Amino acid sequence: MSYQNVAEIITETDSNRTGDLCGSTEEKSESGTVSEKTSSSSDIDRIAMAREYLKKGILDKAHHLIAEIIKASLEPDTLIKAAIISLELGQIKLSLKALDKAREQGRGISTEYEEIARPLYQWFGSEKKCADSGVNQHNILLKKLPSLAETYCVIGIFAAECDYVRLALKNLETAQFIDSDVFNNFDLPKDTITAHLIDCILSIRKNPYLTDLARETPAFQQPQLPIFEVINPPELSYRDQDAHLAIAHLYGQASDDIVQWAMTAQSLYASAAIREAITAFERVVELQPNNDLATRALWHLPKLDNSELDRLLSVRFDANKMEQLREKYYAARQADYYYNIDIVGTCNLRCPSCPVGNFDDSGIPKGFMDLNKYERILSKIKKSHDPSVSIAIDIHNWGESLLHPKLPEFIKKTREYGFLVGLSSNLNHNLSRKKLEEIIRAEPDALRISLSGFSNEIHMQTHTRGDINIVKSNMHLLRHVLDRTKSETAIEIGYMVYKHNFSDDFVRMRLLAEELDFHFDWIFAVYMPVEKTITAIRGEYDQADKEIFENLPVDPREWTELVDGSGAFRKNTPGDCHLKKHRMAINFDGTVPICCASYSYDNIAVKDFLAVSHEEIQKCRSDHSLCGDCMDSNAYFFYSGVHPEMGERKAYKTLSEIGAFVGKDGR
Ligand code: SF4
Ligand code: SF4
Repeated sequence: MSYQNVAEIITETDSNRTGDLCGSTEEKSESGTVSEKTSSSSDIDRIAMAREYLKKGILDKAHHLIAEIIKASLEPDTLIKAAIISLELGQIKLSLKALDKAREQGRGISTEYEEIARPLYQWFGSEKKCADSGVNQHNILLKKLPSLAETYCVIGIFAAECDYVRLALKNLETAQFIDSDVFNNFDLPKDTITAHLIDCILSIRKNPYLTDLARETPAFQQPQLPIFEVINPPELSYRDQDAHLAIAHLYGQASDDIVQWAMTAQSLYASAAIREAITAFERVVELQPNNDLATRALWHLPKLDNSELDRLLSVRFDANKMEQLREKYYAARQADYYYNIDIVGTCNLRCPSCPVGNFDDSGIPKGFMDLNKYERILSKIKKSHDPSVSIAIDIHNWGESLLHPKLPEFIKKTREYGFLVGLSSNLNHNLSRKKLEEIIRAEPDALRISLSGFSNEIHMQTHTRGDINIVKSNMHLLRHVLDRTKSETAIEIGYMVYKHNFSDDFVRMRLLAEELDFHFDWIFAVYMPVEKTITAIRGEYDQADKEIFENLPVDPREWTELVDGSGAFRKNTPGDCHLKKHRMAINFDGTVPICCASYSYDNIAVKDFLAVSHEEIQKCRSDHSLCGDCMDSNAYFFYSGVHPEMGERKAYKTLSEIGAFVGKDGR
């Protein structure tokens, strides 16, 4: 597979649009092919001659002729064909020039023209740096037949240039699996995203912990990895569908290579092209009848077909917008050290997976922090860290800080100290416009809205005492206030995923988030607090806990088995728990728990934050037996993000096995 093939696909598509590789059909134009409609015979001859030169390898003549055609011609169709040949010649800038000229001339025949030209724009972008890196890559490929690894590498680079970061990573990783030296064949500009991605992969590979994990995990060893992921929720589906389909074409063209078909299926699925994905999976099974994952994908996918969800998934999400919102939110949260300060020691809801809902006998007192105490805490924090250390204060841990009548003043104070301010709220109370406006005018950097459904039928199961209609109405009000105050606060919807809510509700909430310009994030719900997770792992839990576990994507009772089965190092981790190293929680009464995931009052590390130095607090936390128990039982994997993918894979598997993401009618 090479760039020539890319152009062949496009040429083929151009002359005979009867179907794509996976059976999606597009009719031939009633009046015939593009060239018959508008190109003059002399243009057709000259194009044919250039193609002939190209075929025979007389590249300079082909280049010369095609440059002349582009200069002289005003026929959009000729220009498009010339663009394709330029592309095959590696003359990407010339190709873009031809396309631009065709676009200028092409009004009135735009439908077919756009369909042909769009993938080219998608791949090479209109920006110079993309075109330049495209030229480099293409020139390398033109010198020799590319290997499979090089092909994956180029696809990865394309994907990166289209900003499909995860897809790019997968491809680049696959390339490296096939040939660990593959990246050395590419003369990549160091400042491109591609180079960055490659660096990421290389650093992953250099990490002995992850390498060991990869060695032990069959999915990591197989290029079929995407098959596993395709049966899972289509996290890429909001990406731009055109470029996905274009990349899918690259993978799947006339190939008997099972990996390419698997990747094609993944891309099609990610593009919500469900029927085409089914065709691609059928091809995988045809090539390898015992491929269990593809068979399961086929079992799963038809459920999506024709369902309400299929329709919803076909909605075009705006990938660029969501990416910008994501970047904005994460930039507003980026710091070296984080504090979670509970200014309200309680919450209005009783979510069953949260200790406020499941741990009545924790001994934690309830109450509100006063502003003076908060200011003294901020002052001590300021003195405890070197000025080069950036600090973020999350004004919440287990409490609902929007219940504090003086929240705007807490936010302002935090900003006065130069700290980033993060809020998290269930937004599930009657907020007046005035109050919300005061909060937003105080300029928190980020606000996360935590919820678990779009309908009350779903949301209330896991946000007990909640009402999603209040939340949604507050979300709209918040949008209004943000616009009115021209606020820069970054907003994120944190959709907590359980077994029962990974369905239409999920998609609908994502649509609403996009409509309101809020970043949409989804997190697999975990059981909290750490004390109860440790006992659950050890087999000690009651009936109420059991019901909660059964609705979680990752059941804590299976945790030991999962950690052992993953090949992760038990107990002996390469780094310390990051919740201990980079984060500290402070309760409303000034007490310091072992960590933000702990809740029992028995596990208070320090009685008064203000009376003990930062170093001593850290020592008290580290020496506490809870951390030892947490590490011994591997509970900290749940919270510390040592290797979240392990839990994520399990969560995906669970959700696909129960047929989550199925429309309400059960199909
Ligand atoms: S809304 Fe948040 S803090 Fe309140 S009970 Fe639910 S998870 Fe806990
Ligand atoms: S090891 Fe466990 S208890 Fe200790 S800080 Fe990490 S998550 Fe918290």
